[in-house]
Amino acid sequence: MEGDDAVSRKQKKNLVRIIIASVLMVAFIFVPVSGIWRLLLFLVPYLVVGYDILIKAFKGIIHLQPFDECFLMSVATIGAIVVGMMGDGDYVEAVAVMLFYQVGEWFQSYAVGKSRKSISSLMDIRPDHANVEKDGEIEETDPDEVAVGTVIVVRPGERIPIDGVITEGSSSLNTSALTGESLPKDVMVGDEVISGCVNMTGVLRIRTTKEFGESTVSRILDLVENASSRKSRSENFISRFARYYTPAVVFSALALALLPPFITMLCGGAARWGLWIYRALTFLVISCPCALVISIPLSFFAGIGGAGREGVLVKGSNCLEALAGTDTVVFDKTGTLTKGVFEVVAIHPDSVDSNTLLHLAAHVERYSSHPIAASLRAAYSFELDDCEINDVREISGQGVTASVNGETVAVGNSRLMESVGAVIQKCPHDHVGTVIHVAKNGVYLGHIEISDVVKPTSSQAIAELRRAGVTRTVMLTGDSAAAAEKVSKELGIDEVHSGLLPEDKVSRVEDLIGAKKGKGLTAFVGDGINDAPVLTVADVGIAMGALGSDAAIEAADVVLMDDDPLKISKAMRIARKCMAIVRENIWFSLGVKAACLVLGALGLANMWTAVIADVGVMIAAVLNAIRALFVKKL
Ligand code: ADP
Ligand code: MG
Repeated sequence: MEGDDAVSRKQKKNLVRIIIASVLMVAFIFVPVSGIWRLLLFLVPYLVVGYDILIKAFKGIIHLQPFDECFLMSVATIGAIVVGMMGDGDYVEAVAVMLFYQVGEWFQSYAVGKSRKSISSLMDIRPDHANVEKDGEIEETDPDEVAVGTVIVVRPGERIPIDGVITEGSSSLNTSALTGESLPKDVMVGDEVISGCVNMTGVLRIRTTKEFGESTVSRILDLVENASSRKSRSENFISRFARYYTPAVVFSALALALLPPFITMLCGGAARWGLWIYRALTFLVISCPCALVISIPLSFFAGIGGAGREGVLVKGSNCLEALAGTDTVVFDKTGTLTKGVFEVVAIHPDSVDSNTLLHLAAHVERYSSHPIAASLRAAYSFELDDCEINDVREISGQGVTASVNGETVAVGNSRLMESVGAVIQKCPHDHVGTVIHVAKNGVYLGHIEISDVVKPTSSQAIAELRRAGVTRTVMLTGDSAAAAEKVSKELGIDEVHSGLLPEDKVSRVEDLIGAKKGKGLTAFVGDGINDAPVLTVADVGIAMGALGSDAAIEAADVVLMDDDPLKISKAMRIARKCMAIVRENIWFSLGVKAACLVLGALGLANMWTAVIADVGVMIAAVLNAIRALFVKKL
């Protein structure tokens, strides 16, 4: 993309050209010369305003891709000049048509630039400095130069520039730029904070945990800035369309110029070449598909910007289009529908020393980033003792094995117990939560029942999805059937599959997609812990942005900044509104085009009306596209 400065310089230059050409054109009307001199006179404003179009058209011909709008404008205006030479010496029309076209182009680039700028400014979360404390003095530093582990100071009213952990102070944060959530979030010492939030009340000292380039703000800006480079099918539709449309128009114009005069000649009448050539040229001018070409990318851009304001990052127009066509939503359980924060509810069998069990579990889980691991570590507060932990192996969807003080300990589900040869003791108690088994040297020790809670909005999220037209909801989990059943009943999910390994999740989603045979798309929503591959396989991968892993955010098409499943239906409604606008613009522009083409062919529209109609349609389409930005109330 061109830089803002370059664009505005070009806009200024073009405006000057347009003004000079119009002044010259009007002045020359009153100059009393004729014949070749009049032609030369009018060529001056014509070339001033149209030279770049002529050059582009010429380049198109050289590259054997002549059929674009520059070609159409060039042929039409040169044609008009030829008609003038043959007839009354009126070259005003040729200049005026080129002039109008350039006015339209100018308006278009102005409007697009303006709306792009306003969309980007809505996403303007880039901090310009970080306050680094040095010898008691605060120094404003480029965030790029702040090393991990530096303590930065964020005063009230400032944006947090880099992700980190609060070491001093407490405050409330406004996270709305990231999540769309308007309620402030209270934070205190020890809390992790992400960049992009605005500090509202107290002074905070934050130890950075990431470099600026890896911080949330940078990642978001990256996503948004690169969003429009991933093209959607509707955008491809335009290039496909242009490939057939332009030649079709050119040949129709040729036919219009040649056939009627020939036929009248054959029938013995006067051929009236000038009239039909003029009509053919008008036909060409009318046929420029400018409104489509400009309004479709702009609609997508506005839709993506609007979604971004609501805390939904959509990585490209193709993702938005896919989201609009989704009718099946597949969920991961842990961390997606549930909070992923487990509490220990029971430890069995009663004979086992529960402290030993927790001690082993917490140690084995020392290096795991799974939510279960974090919860087990939290449940045992003396984890950082001098026990030796080696050979840690994490088996996705099963658990972890490690050697603790030389003894092999396995912590995980029944599948893992089977693979280490430990025989699970039958338990007389009922378990509704997640059961984590512990074995030492292949001998079963006991299990810890932990329980997660569903997110407060999960149930409403499922209901909203149904209202938004999702016909099938599915939950896939590596957890036990009992734990899965409990969550799915509570939330009203149609279908559950439990005990799945990460690769099983992939094949389940592939099956779901295969069974549809292209009717309706399938989205997968996950936190990326063990399910990043599924995010890639699904038609639309939706990742939890705050809790989710970096891999998930990479792999996903859509990222929910605040992990709120309610945002899924919101994202779908935003996507549908955007697609509706795209479709409106396509039909509206094509409709007006078709009407003008017919009128042009019948001789009821001249070149002037053609250009004015085109500019009008374009303005309407651009204004309509901007509607996609407004999504608050959806
Ligand atoms: P989900 O599909 O619900 O997100 P996962 O695929 O991450 O769950 O894990 C499935 C199951 O594997 C868990 O319910 C747990 O029993 C076991 N498991 C996975 N990772 C671990 C771990 N780090 N520690 C203990 N158990 C684990
Ligand atoms: Mg998970």
